[in-house]
Amino acid sequence: MDSSVSVRDLRISYGALDVIRDLQLDIAPGEFLVLLGPSGCGKSTLLNAIAGLIDVSDGEVWINERNVTWDEPKDRGIGMVFQSYALYPQMTVEKNLSFGLRVAKHSREDIDKRVARAAEILQIEPLLKRRPSNLSGGQRQRVAIGRALVRDADVFLFDEPLSNLDAKLRVDLRVEIKRLHQRLRSTMVYVTHDQIEALTLADRIAVMQGGAIQQLDDPLTIYNRPCNLFVAGFIGSPA
Ligand code: ADP
Ligand code: MG
Repeated sequence: MDSSVSVRDLRISYGALDVIRDLQLDIAPGEFLVLLGPSGCGKSTLLNAIAGLIDVSDGEVWINERNVTWDEPKDRGIGMVFQSYALYPQMTVEKNLSFGLRVAKHSREDIDKRVARAAEILQIEPLLKRRPSNLSGGQRQRVAIGRALVRDADVFLFDEPLSNLDAKLRVDLRVEIKRLHQRLRSTMVYVTHDQIEALTLADRIAVMQGGAIQQLDDPLTIYNRPCNLFVAGFIGSPA
């Protein structure tokens, strides 16, 4: 089977509480998949399990046909962007972008090339010498995306990357992320509780509730033919 990300029989529990229950998910190479659902439904838990940031209780995670269930996050070929920017405050933008590459012992030349490319794609060249504290929320989030970009990730994981931004910036960056996907054609898994974001960005939307995927379909199908009352109430067209 030709999947970029495959989640098989996944269970994640905290004590007696199953937060993810017997979840199956296959994401095609180059697909933009949105995980959509209300707060507390398990979106971040699922994303963090794909990233390797939490241990699974049962089941497997495969990335590019490799079982990575017990691999370190850094060995999974992923780039992750969180809701809060998680930039290093004492470093310039340039250093923030290059830090992971320096740790991984890339050559100076290679680092410069990668940073320049990411800066060009995200239009943050003028910001390279500045520090995060001197940037707007939108600029910081571009830098955070840049940090995922320099690593040539096969799979990008986004956890509500726009929810700390004001409405205007949210729309701008949404367009930017869409453009990034069209340019790179990487697999993207994008968590949000925002229906509009999901409908405009996704190739397919997985609507989650209570640790399970209720419906997985393209946006039009989800909107026009929700499979149950929950999906209808959360995202479907008004009947
Ligand atoms: P979402 O991202 O959809 O808002 P989460 O994946 O963060 O939801 O959380 C799903 C459920 O798991 C919630 O009920 C949350 O309270 C619970 N949960 C998350 N992390 C932990 C943890 N470390 N210990 C116990 N419960 C947790
Ligand atoms: Mg979350």
